[in-house]
Amino acid sequence: MPHTPTRHAIRGSYVTFRADPFAAPAADALVLEEDGLIIMEHGRITHCGPYALVRAHLGETPLTHYPDCLISAGFIDAHVHYPQISAIASWGEQLLPWLEQYIFPTEAQFASMDVARQTARLFLSELLRNGTTTAAVYCTVHPQSVDAFFEESARLGTRMIAGKVLMDRNCPPNLQDTAQSGYDQSAALIARWHGTGRQLYAVTPRFAITSTPEQLELAGDLLRRTQGLYMQTHLAENLDEIAAVRSLFPHHSSYLDVYAKAGLDGPRAIFGHAIHMSEHDFAHCHHSGCTLAHCPTSNLFLGSGAFRLFDALKPDRPVHVALGTDIGAGTSLSLLATMGEAYKVSLMAGDTRLSAAQALWLATAGAARALHLHDRIGHIAPGMEADLCVMDPHATPLMAQRSARTTTLAERLFTLMVLGDDRAIRATWVNGKVVHSRAEAA
Ligand SMILES: [Zn+2]
Repeated sequence: MPHTPTRHAIRGSYVTFRADPFAAPAADALVLEEDGLIIMEHGRITHCGPYALVRAHLGETPLTHYPDCLISAGFIDAHVHYPQISAIASWGEQLLPWLEQYIFPTEAQFASMDVARQTARLFLSELLRNGTTTAAVYCTVHPQSVDAFFEESARLGTRMIAGKVLMDRNCPPNLQDTAQSGYDQSAALIARWHGTGRQLYAVTPRFAITSTPEQLELAGDLLRRTQGLYMQTHLAENLDEIAAVRSLFPHHSSYLDVYAKAGLDGPRAIFGHAIHMSEHDFAHCHHSGCTLAHCPTSNLFLGSGAFRLFDALKPDRPVHVALGTDIGAGTSLSLLATMGEAYKVSLMAGDTRLSAAQALWLATAGAARALHLHDRIGHIAPGMEADLCVMDPHATPLMAQRSARTTTLAERLFTLMVLGDDRAIRATWVNGKVVHSRAEAA
């Protein structure tokens, strides 16, 4: 078979899911192919399985071998702010003063297209260095911050979800839109980017405090106007924030109710944090099909609280959950590190322990399902888009020492998520092409 530049293959151990590990035992949910082969063409996986069987389809296809690595579907980050990457590690505040002191001044710089382009480039290359191939991303209030982001994502071929932040009150004047200008700018960005190549748009009110009821209503109108749009915002992250929402919206039954009344609670709604939730709120999220983005490093960094993962996932009314890094309040862009922190937070929040298989599910197949992208990403299977990350369990001397003592897949994965970060990502493939390779970067 003649090879074309769009056809590639990789060989190595790979892991993927055949069932939800929150519903089935890990051994039934996870598939491990110890010596696997994945063939990709025109951005999709065409064949995968045991090397001994699938190599018959190789022909002249260029092959990259990753011995001693573990290949997974690319990671999915369900909540992150690309403009805040420069404000990561800002000391001393909880949510509201942290926004005022550090974040609003940082986001104001995105009036400059140069700043936006430069930051989008850095951010997306950092995502790829961390094995993340899809993310739900907040831009700033400036429409050009969205153009800069999607332009770079389109150049790389990544599947990204992003949107312009809507803020028409309670923020500095240079970061304010109006209900109408926010609507018009969002509509123009949706027309330009939603469904263009692999790019998808999210209507993005920052949170209830910085939007008037009129702006939230118009955000709901945008969602009703175009099929398949996402909605992302913050929900019940911090107690002072919740008190402020209560005083701004005294006639609503809860914080979530503010969004629900504006029509922002559908199946493609992604709510960041959702720490301080009532049983009624969880049940509402279950029935409306929305997704909660659990951001453990951010919640620890800002002292916001512990997300009750196993409450959210109660079998009689499970809510979709995915993981978010929430840079700049989060402390790492690594989903491996985020999985490790999610494990610790699960112990803080209750007595059910997050398993390694469950953590990997939340960062790959489970996130894809929550975002209604499971027919395209999140699994390694023929027909899926070829976004993969290659993990190296021996990336550091300590990891090599610990990994040498692991005997099960669960132990290998757990070692990766507790000790791993960007150093443990050997390579990242997007759309069937290698976009990051640690050896080349070194
Ligand atoms: Zn956030």
